[in-house]
Amino acid sequence: MMQIKKGIPFIDQHNKEYLYGGKFGGNFIPETLKKPIDDLTKLFSKLRKNKNFLKERDYYFKNYIGSPTPFIKLENLTKHVGGAQIYAKVVSEANGGAHKIYNATVHCLIAKKAGKKFIVGDTGAGYAGKMLSMAAKKFNLKCKIFMGAKDIKRQRPNVEAMKKNGAVIVPVKTGSQTLVDAVSECMRYWVSNCDTTHMCVGSTVGPNIFVKICAWSTSQISRELIVQLKEEFGKIPKKIKLINCVGGGSSAMGFWNEFIDTDAEFYGVEAGGPKKSKLHAAPLSNGSKIGILHGAAQYVVQDKEGQIGSTESISAGLDYPGISPLHCFLKDTKRAIYTSVNDEEALNAYRLVSKLENISPSLEPSHAFAEAIKFAPKLKRSDVIVVNSCGDSLKDKDIIKSRLGYYIR
Ligand SMILES: *Cc1c(COP(=O)(O)O)cnc(C)c1O
Repeated sequence: MMQIKKGIPFIDQHNKEYLYGGKFGGNFIPETLKKPIDDLTKLFSKLRKNKNFLKERDYYFKNYIGSPTPFIKLENLTKHVGGAQIYAKVVSEANGGAHKIYNATVHCLIAKKAGKKFIVGDTGAGYAGKMLSMAAKKFNLKCKIFMGAKDIKRQRPNVEAMKKNGAVIVPVKTGSQTLVDAVSECMRYWVSNCDTTHMCVGSTVGPNIFVKICAWSTSQISRELIVQLKEEFGKIPKKIKLINCVGGGSSAMGFWNEFIDTDAEFYGVEAGGPKKSKLHAAPLSNGSKIGILHGAAQYVVQDKEGQIGSTESISAGLDYPGISPLHCFLKDTKRAIYTSVNDEEALNAYRLVSKLENISPSLEPSHAFAEAIKFAPKLKRSDVIVVNSCGDSLKDKDIIKSRLGYYIR
């Protein structure tokens, strides 16, 4: 069991609230956001214990999102790679094609309870935005999505989906024109519209309450996985290795949450960027320093003056200079191990997995598969690896086609 000190609110586990140490996270926010953040914090602390709200959440997880998502053995990949048995939790089968739907659905349910008619959110790969637009349509909320102009160009299918769902897309042309700027712009908008509008942060980042709501929502993934492991193995396999890509860290947090007090091993895979470039989006595995980004203290890619540094990755979903305070904590306590994989390795992993198996991971989880492919041969056949295949490759079809010459789904 990890040492959990008094400090910033941690996430729920087995419906208990844990706390963790004071170095990361926080609420570095403008004065005008203090009240809306306090209100949201109070509302959520009530809702997360409210039986009717939990019933409603579980109902929509099952009847709208389609939980539980499949858990499958990748027999061909296991045979090809050798060593440990490789499994996948196919979260990309969730409605919409990625784990972001859990957080988006919970935020819409909260917005309803708060009596808000408008919802705003940020998006990088476009999945957070697509899912928020879907959930907003489902729950009759008016939706606005902030998205970097560079990401709008490279994630076209998700942009189309958002428009079809009736969301207004606000192109963000400041800074690197990617996720980091979209989050900043979205928070700026919320400052002046918080009376009528609820804000959804698309990952386990931002002021504490957003970290918490997001991890609480995605932890459904590990709840399901525990049941599925017991069905397959009769128990949770010893020292099971749970491999997940990390951008902001919401899929990894969801994949690991319920395993925190077991002997499961956590491996987080960051985006190493292009092979021949110094740029990356891997603050934890590249020794980045602590800084403040989007209202919270965390390890963050930065320059010598402490300005937010440039990042680069083939995967828009991982292209973010910061990382969830929860992962900073898991790194410092050595509860999780963080590595990085470069663009080429991720593409190769996509190629191998989609050739051998009937799943087609997007470029984000392809980073996790690349790590699994490197790791498995060093292990025994009795070892079990599970990769969270948290997104579907459809949104990446243009990039994959141009880099590999073909696309399989
Ligand atoms: C957004 C996204 C990510 C990265 O975000 P996390 O919060 O780290 O999960 C990874 N994979 C997919 C498919 C995504 O859409």
